[in-house]
Amino acid sequence: MNLERIKYQTCPYDQEEGILVTDLEEVIPETDNDGNLQYYCPTCSNTFVYCDCDTSYRR
Ligand SMILES: [Zn+2]
Repeated sequence: MNLERIKYQTCPYDQEEGILVTDLEEVIPETDNDGNLQYYCPTCSNTFVYCDCDTSYRR
């Protein structure tokens, strides 16, 4: 898994940059029960989930 590609996502609350939540060694991303990646926004201190089911890749 290439963490650099998925490391940042736009925060849905304030459109700032959210950072991927990983373990302490930044190797394994944290996920919720559905396997979605977790992001933390340092601007508004919210965590949010990114789901790639709603992207332009949808066919
Ligand atoms: Zn935010």
